[in-house]
Amino acid sequence: MALIVQKYGGTSVGTVERIQAVADKVKRFREQGDDVVVVVSAMSGETNRLIGLAKEMQDQPAPREMDVLVSTGEQVTIALLCMALNERSCPARSYTGTQVRILTDDAHTKARIQDIDDENIRADLKAGRVVVVAGFQGVDDNGNITTLGRGGSDTTAVALAAALKADECQIYTDVDGVYTTDPRVVEGARRLDEITFEEMLEMASLGSKVLQIRAVEFAGKYDVPLRVLHSFQEGPGTLITIEDENTVERPVISGIAFNRDEAKLTVLGVPDIPGVASKILGPVSDANIEVDMILQNIAEDNTTDFTFTVHRNDYDRALSILERVSSELKAREVQGDNKIAKVSIVGVGMRSHAGVATKMFGALAGEGINIQLISTSEIKISVVIAEKYLELAVRSLHSAFELDEAEVVQES
Ligand code: ADP
Ligand code: ASP
Ligand code: MG
Repeated sequence: MALIVQKYGGTSVGTVERIQAVADKVKRFREQGDDVVVVVSAMSGETNRLIGLAKEMQDQPAPREMDVLVSTGEQVTIALLCMALNERSCPARSYTGTQVRILTDDAHTKARIQDIDDENIRADLKAGRVVVVAGFQGVDDNGNITTLGRGGSDTTAVALAAALKADECQIYTDVDGVYTTDPRVVEGARRLDEITFEEMLEMASLGSKVLQIRAVEFAGKYDVPLRVLHSFQEGPGTLITIEDENTVERPVISGIAFNRDEAKLTVLGVPDIPGVASKILGPVSDANIEVDMILQNIAEDNTTDFTFTVHRNDYDRALSILERVSSELKAREVQGDNKIAKVSIVGVGMRSHAGVATKMFGALAGEGINIQLISTSEIKISVVIAEKYLELAVRSLHSAFELDEAEVVQES
């Protein structure tokens, strides 16, 4: 008998029929004798619909009210799933984040879980009930409803699994595991049997939304056995694992991530004097805008160009800040581009292989794709390119690094 935490995403609970199918599935686990805690997302499209309603009221609604609004999506699903379970003579009880007491900080719309009270859940499990918890939400010290950021139900599930010391945390979704790249973009993408926490963390933070990044962080920190599986198809899915030093042969690259969420800004002709970077980036961070990649060129004629990327939603604000700063700094010009994309190759195998970057840049050059920015870390290389080349770039890298389905060589 095992204790399992299962999470079903939006598409998997997107209709009444699917919620019923989830109930059938949960019941089968109960019949095998497992204790089951289920975390559900809002029905697919619901969170976006709620955000749309908010936008009709106000341009920038108060984050506290946003959380009160968007947390309702998950509340609908927990109740419906419990009804479906009870209808199947499988006793179940639903909990909102507040009712469990998933305590978070007060950073509305991107709160972090601090503590989980597992008393009610344990009592229900002991009484033979399935516990169904609303994903994506918690409560702060003052009783305000908070939410955990888009995709946050993954994090709810992993945090519950950690708190309950569950035997496994199963993330059920609309694909049958973690793939070498988004299977909806590259047809030849291949499901991975395993991926390390480190690689999954990079993939998630570089744009693969199959798991929320905080869920992966949590799982790594608390040693939660984590698996991604298809909700309605049988299969082993993908296990997120700790890197095994003994694996002799591993692929150099495990996956390719990409995202279209960034925009690029450049200040041209900045005087090359100490303090310039902080004069440019200070006001940007004061406005709560996160900066991702940064590039400063070597000075020519005592002036330099300074480029960085921000989230696309922050592009307009960042641009107007830069226009102000650049006149103060007596820079020549500010340029911006919000039609860019970031493509990253990820793999722990990179540590022991030379020439990975050369191969990546060669593959892109072969397609005539210009690289605008590069950034690297121990297990990833990212490039910024024009958005229109994104799919071409991902496909060509996927085959250059022999990740395509047909090209897999059996690992020893
Ligand atoms: P859920 O609603 O179940 O949380 P998401 O839409 O958040 O599902 O995440 C699943 C989606 O993630 C898939 O449909 C797929 O398009 C996308 N995805 C992106 N990168 C990958 C990847 N490397 N492997 C698998 N899926 C990926
Ligand atoms: N419903 C939330 C979202 O759409 C949380 C989740 O599905 O994980 O982002
Ligand atoms: Mg998700």
